[in-house]
Amino acid sequence: MKIKIAKHIGFCFGVRRAVNMAEHALEKKGNFSCLGAIIHNPQEVRRLSLKGLKIIDNIKYLKKNDTLIIRSHGLLPRIIESVKSKGVNLIDATCPFVKKAQNICKRLKDEGFDVVVVGEREHPEVRSILGFVDGKAAVVESLFDVKRLKLRSGKIGILAQTTQSKENFHDLVTALLKKYNSGPSYNEIRIFNTICKDSATRQQAAKKISSVCDVILVIGGKNSANSRRLAKICKSALMRAYHVETEDDLKPGWFKNTDRVGIISGASTPDWIIKKIAKALKNRNGEE
Ligand code: SF4
Repeated sequence: MKIKIAKHIGFCFGVRRAVNMAEHALEKKGNFSCLGAIIHNPQEVRRLSLKGLKIIDNIKYLKKNDTLIIRSHGLLPRIIESVKSKGVNLIDATCPFVKKAQNICKRLKDEGFDVVVVGEREHPEVRSILGFVDGKAAVVESLFDVKRLKLRSGKIGILAQTTQSKENFHDLVTALLKKYNSGPSYNEIRIFNTICKDSATRQQAAKKISSVCDVILVIGGKNSANSRRLAKICKSALMRAYHVETEDDLKPGWFKNTDRVGIISGASTPDWIIKKIAKALKNRNGEE
């Protein structure tokens, strides 16, 4: 059984940057906090926690001179202000691509557009983007959401959660255009493709590797939206595609009558987990 590892694998730029900033701060400052998981990978979060990173679910636990790192998904401006007013030090690890989406959302709102974000309503990144317009933007995840949408201003601005699939963004933008571009009520529509290049490349790689393997392992946190999306893409091309977090998730029955296993990962999966899983597969088969 051969093992084929996708070229584009491991941390994306934004996650690597956030983890590096956290490691650096742990060395320099010692313990500090993050509001929510710093990245969506439980094993990597545990590794950082053992070094002193504290995951909190409320800023009430912070006191003057504490340090808080803003995770790659960003944070709502009103929370940032509350934290600053407590005298807490901030390390901003918001991914620059998420910042770009936040700024576009704010600019559109300031210019009087009805803003529509294509993404997952409860995802921390989408919540942070909405925080820049005090929650006054619509979020659509599906065609059903587009159907129910009611916009009023005469101008509509559309952007995407950075890890959306290109297909979903395209489908929902098409549906929005069909709904609002046909009548006289809308005189300006602006569309910003804020899907980050890393996400688009990974989605392409997922399709490619699914076409040349018998089994695909998508490695990533079960709480990672982009890993789940990759698993969905692989599953739509190949029945035997499995989303795993660690080598303990591997089931011997998956690899019967298999010539080639493909490995791909979400954007928040560290190399050390990928290596462990590849090693477990090699040990199982005695060959690469
Ligand atoms: S997936 Fe893209 S937008 Fe999200 S953290 Fe990574 S580089 Fe940034």
